[in-house]
Amino acid sequence: MKEIRYQVSKPVLIGNEREYVLDAIESGWISSSGRYLSRFEDQVSNYLGIEGGIAVSSGTTALHIACKALGVHPGDKVLVPDLTYVATANAVSYCGGRPLFVDCDPKTWNVTLGTIEDAYESDVVGAIITHLYGLPAPVEKIKEFCSEKGIWLIEDCAEAFGAKIDNRYVGSFGDASVFSFYGNKIISTGEGGMVFAVDENIRETMKLLRGQGMSAGKRYWHTILGYNYRMTNVAAAIGCGQVENADIHIAERKRIANSYMDKLSLLESERVMQFPAKIEGYENVYWLFSIVINALTREERDGLMSNLDNDHGIETRPFFVPMHMLPIHSPTNATYPNAESISTSGLNLPTYTGLKEEAIQEIADALIYEIQGILARRKAYE
Ligand SMILES: *Cc1c(COP(=O)(O)O)cnc(C)c1O
Repeated sequence: MKEIRYQVSKPVLIGNEREYVLDAIESGWISSSGRYLSRFEDQVSNYLGIEGGIAVSSGTTALHIACKALGVHPGDKVLVPDLTYVATANAVSYCGGRPLFVDCDPKTWNVTLGTIEDAYESDVVGAIITHLYGLPAPVEKIKEFCSEKGIWLIEDCAEAFGAKIDNRYVGSFGDASVFSFYGNKIISTGEGGMVFAVDENIRETMKLLRGQGMSAGKRYWHTILGYNYRMTNVAAAIGCGQVENADIHIAERKRIANSYMDKLSLLESERVMQFPAKIEGYENVYWLFSIVINALTREERDGLMSNLDNDHGIETRPFFVPMHMLPIHSPTNATYPNAESISTSGLNLPTYTGLKEEAIQEIADALIYEIQGILARRKAYE
């Protein structure tokens, strides 16, 4: 196998991460107490302008805690995007709830007010939306709808740290919101996450859920069935170094996305591929620069990926498989045509801080060459 020259993603630790981690180790506080934890919670909260961030062990555990605290009981229906990472839907299932999947918009790849309205049933208790691949979903309108119906809203911001609508950070619109700091996310702690809630009582419940349900005032008095979902001080130390440079990591992603769009513009204007949607007032942080190659079938898209990998050393990722197709989420007869067609031809390209212009040119050239090859071969058969 040829070596991978350009990974899809990687964490880039160019700030004070090393210094802080060494400091945490020297202090002896390597577990889930220590000063980097509260510092990281404060730094992220201040950066996003959202009060009271609670650091946890992953984005998945953040989602689970949010569902538990807001109230997903066995049998409860929760609206969940059909096109998202599996963790969004799993959080509902962990609580015994039933995800009701919501189709996406063919241009933005996100859920919309319309698709939420279509999927809504009168006994739904809440909704989770994902800001997919870094582009905000129309959360303001969706929040209004949820308030009208008396249901809660969780924003899954795992892929959209720093994304904004009209200068306001995503994560500040819902009743609760979650972030992931996994190794390939916009800022990382290795594994890690953070959960926010507007309501102070919900926040207190979330803290209990994170720490085995143990009462803050009385040791070994466990008031609710909790979990160990704590983040370590070492992970938080990495996070402090990362969040200090959040603006750099986000600016880098925008630079890379703009450069790809510039170099691939011909294929876009010929409607061979579709770029991430541009929406007035919406700031995309391009977690992974993503394209939908409408001209290709699933088999051709998969062939393109292996050619890029084997012949050029370029790693790419296919879009997520829609949730309704996964056996673990009980496939139904309901159809989600937009999610299906987008997932079939979607592709994530290498996107990480420091990816050089020459590399982007090389990746774009390889992509154009391989796509044109596929289309030419197809013509020869016709
Ligand atoms: C990464 C991701 C998560 C889960 O985060 P982990 O930290 O890997 O548990 C949840 N939702 C979405 C949309 C994600 O992309």
